[in-house]
Amino acid sequence: PTILGIESTCDETAAAIVRGNTLLSNVVSSSMNEHARYGGVIPEIASRAHAEAFVPCVQQALADAGLELSDVDAIAVSAGPGLAGCLAVGVSGAKALAWAAHKPIYGINHVIGHIAVTQLQFGAFPPDTLALIVSGGHTSLLHVEDVARHIDVVGTTLDDAAGECFDKVARLLGFPYPGGPHIDRHAQQGNPHAIRVPQGLTQGKAGREHPYDFSFSGVKTAVARWIEEQQAEGRAIPVDDVCASLADSVASVLARKAMHGCEQYGSKTLIVGGGFSANSQLRAKLLEEGERCGVEVRIPQIKLCTDNGAMVAMLGVNLVEAGVKPSDPDFPIDSAMPLTTISV
Ligand code: ATP
Ligand code: MG
Ligand code: FE
Repeated sequence: PTILGIESTCDETAAAIVRGNTLLSNVVSSSMNEHARYGGVIPEIASRAHAEAFVPCVQQALADAGLELSDVDAIAVSAGPGLAGCLAVGVSGAKALAWAAHKPIYGINHVIGHIAVTQLQFGAFPPDTLALIVSGGHTSLLHVEDVARHIDVVGTTLDDAAGECFDKVARLLGFPYPGGPHIDRHAQQGNPHAIRVPQGLTQGKAGREHPYDFSFSGVKTAVARWIEEQQAEGRAIPVDDVCASLADSVASVLARKAMHGCEQYGSKTLIVGGGFSANSQLRAKLLEEGERCGVEVRIPQIKLCTDNGAMVAMLGVNLVEAGVKPSDPDFPIDSAMPLTTISV
């Protein structure tokens, strides 16, 4: 099937067309730079940017693929999780297109799209695949039984997401939003063992084991406290070393728990997705650990890691191929959509 995928959960307006598992076009318009000086995404600014970019993105995606709207078999759109005002723009626009062109529409889970997108590069999921989702809003380990119908949550963060932790430390260091990529760049020049950064939940809380859960708020606090101590004593902050130590700690705990999960579930394949999977320290650590544990690690190219329409279209292909019923034409958005909901 040929699917038009539309994305507007946060600060990227995106449209893409996928046929089977071939990407025909992929257009992304980001309002990221408009938020930089506020230190985070401003929902009103993001929603307005979606309203402006929606039609041009869809038109460009169709033009790049050499198709008309009448040529697509269905439309898929992120219905959640995300910012309500942003979701409303993409979902309303997608419903209008579906209604006008008499096409079925699928309201899909954006986070599951981050998993589905790897198929464009690596092909179908082998049985017993585990997926590590790491983004600005999520850090979870999932068992992918059937990407169109059934996904289980194996572990999740009890507080901050990995990307959120990077963004918060980046703020302390004075980097503009989103700070993750700045930490990545500085970490490449630093010593990862210069500062002891805790890994969080290595032992489990209050005697209870959390073998696959994560916790990153303590990591951020530890780094913040260390920076304050240095400042109180009038010492300069070794920015590269702070970044390298933070990145090493976060990448290590993610890789270790993901591999432990693969062992427990008998998975020979680990899918990695979400904006934080663009992080070079995490990519290197996962590939290294995967090699050591005999697990094939599938991390998509960077432009498919951050938010895009291809991930939405690819999941749409999976839903159509699995014979899943399209969404009701009046389906609602769900800004807190749970990870176990694949489509609405
Ligand atoms: P979700 O997918 O959970 O709804 P989101 O869509 O806001 O969240 P993404 O766009 O998938 O998140 O990812 C954005 C996050 O990825 C930000 O926290 C950003 O700092 C982080 N990020 C992007 N590139 C890098 C990098 N190279 N190193 C570290 N972090 C990065
Ligand atoms: Mg974004
Ligand atoms: Fe995302």
